[in-house]
Amino acid sequence: MPRRPSRVIVLGALVLGLLALATRAAPSPVDGEVTALADHELDGLVGYYKALHATPELSRQEEHTAADLARELRAAGFEVTEHVGRYTLPGYKGTGVVAVLRNGAGPTLLIRADMDALPIEEQTGLPYASHRRMKNEAGVEMPVMHACGHDVHVTSLVGTARVLSKLRSRWHGTLILLGQPAEETIDGALAVVRDGLYERFPRPDLVLALHDSPFLPAGAVGVTPGYAMATSTQMDVVVRGVGGHGSRPEDVKDPIVLAANIVMQLQTIVSREISPFDQAVVTVGTIHGGTRRNIIPNDVKLELNIRAYKPEVREHIIQAVARISRAAALGAGMPEDRLPLVSVLEGEFAPALYNEPATVARVRGAFERVLGAENVHSVDPVMASEDFGYLGVDGKIPVMMFALGANSQELIDEAQRTGVPVHGLHTSRFEPIPAPTLRTGVVAMSTAILEILGN
Ligand SMILES: [Zn+2]
Ligand SMILES: [Zn+2]
Repeated sequence: MPRRPSRVIVLGALVLGLLALATRAAPSPVDGEVTALADHELDGLVGYYKALHATPELSRQEEHTAADLARELRAAGFEVTEHVGRYTLPGYKGTGVVAVLRNGAGPTLLIRADMDALPIEEQTGLPYASHRRMKNEAGVEMPVMHACGHDVHVTSLVGTARVLSKLRSRWHGTLILLGQPAEETIDGALAVVRDGLYERFPRPDLVLALHDSPFLPAGAVGVTPGYAMATSTQMDVVVRGVGGHGSRPEDVKDPIVLAANIVMQLQTIVSREISPFDQAVVTVGTIHGGTRRNIIPNDVKLELNIRAYKPEVREHIIQAVARISRAAALGAGMPEDRLPLVSVLEGEFAPALYNEPATVARVRGAFERVLGAENVHSVDPVMASEDFGYLGVDGKIPVMMFALGANSQELIDEAQRTGVPVHGLHTSRFEPIPAPTLRTGVVAMSTAILEILGN
């Protein structure tokens, strides 16, 4: 028979319950002002979003998107500079937009929204779907779609600008809004940093961004403290041999057998050299060699993609790929002048995203207060990559990115029931639900800003 709880235990539970109630912050008056302003702006923002969705632009060519954004931010009272990032990389036209609102002494905060779309043919069937085609940098005509939801990011930035401009009496400091080009080619953040983002404009104490997510319902946000996205590094290994006739192995050094050996040995880097407490991926994405079945070729090319969180783990993998390739070639009797050529493609590197834990904890509290704790999810880290990490300039400036729910709860539930995944980012059927997604984007970002800069 269960014992009746003692009076002391009952009293203790009562006190704890009252304490919990007292410490759970209720929405403040300014929270109410943020949601009221977001609601007031919502119709206009949905219109802005639909127009932008229908007119996407490829990476490095976001000229109209940038000009429209610049106009909106100017109208909201910001001091706007266009064409940031110009000529910092070969062929770069410079479509970055930097908007500054100085509002007295206080911290400086930078909010980033990426602006580019993808070469994907939209198949959502929406009335505001994109039918646009444009030439990529190689001059080839491509369909274009906002399949990563950067139109959600740009529109949320416009809404946030309006809210923060109207609530100027509620905060102090400097707010910088960045329309960033070329996230999908992972060089736009680098381009604007190289063009003096932190010298020509006030240097931020913190950088924030949001990214929409098809895995969370519209109305919700998700946070990940610490490492959230991986570094992405591209490597080439050209496995050289000494070719010859397929019938005369005694005359040749076969690079195909050697490449096969190297591919298998590369699988031991993560399993046998990296701590199980560190995350890493080594993928050999392509292998090309040979022209005919009876010819042993002179070389085979491997294209690798490396993912990791910590810089030292990335460095270890790069060294291990070089060491394993060289040792395997020496083991196959390859002469010194035919050892593999191993290279890192420096231009195609994305840094890891490390969400500063103290900021995440603070902003999470504000999100829970305004959106309700049930709408603030903990999101697991992923090995995907982003160029947002560049804005932290090697950890010198803390950064935080949070996820913005964009899907319908029914579709998420259905995916869970059937095991068929939702239409994800970078697919032709990715379809954020405009109104609740944008409302939450504006409310969440404005709340995060006021949490840092608020009076
Ligand atoms: Zn993307
Ligand atoms: Zn994206």
